[in-house]
Amino acid sequence: MIAPMLLLASAAGVRLVMNGIDGIFGVLFGALLGVGAGWILISVLMPGSADRTCPSCGRKGLEKLDPKSTTGLACKFCQWSDASASSFLLTEEEGPFEGIVLDQRRARDRGRRF
Ligand SMILES: [Zn+2]
Repeated sequence: MIAPMLLLASAAGVRLVMNGIDGIFGVLFGALLGVGAGWILISVLMPGSADRTCPSCGRKGLEKLDPKSTTGLACKFCQWSDASASSFLLTEEEGPFEGIVLDQRRARDRGRRF
């Protein structure tokens, strides 16, 4: 949605500079606001979900490597694992995750002090 929004913003800007505020500028700017508001509405009504498909075997077997982390994925059907892959969406699906995120932040901050 970035490309259409940039195009609409550019067209509205050019129209504003060349002709001032007129009907076509209003239509372009309204379309820009409509696309942005539409994207927000779609994102709210259809949030992202975790894809548990394993990149190696293709079955839906991805699990978190560490239940107390938001990184690391492993497949329960084959030996595939990736310690650096994000498991944030899986964590989000499994329930409240604020404690996990705050623990990771505290551990990261502790690491910076030394
Ligand atoms: Zn697998």
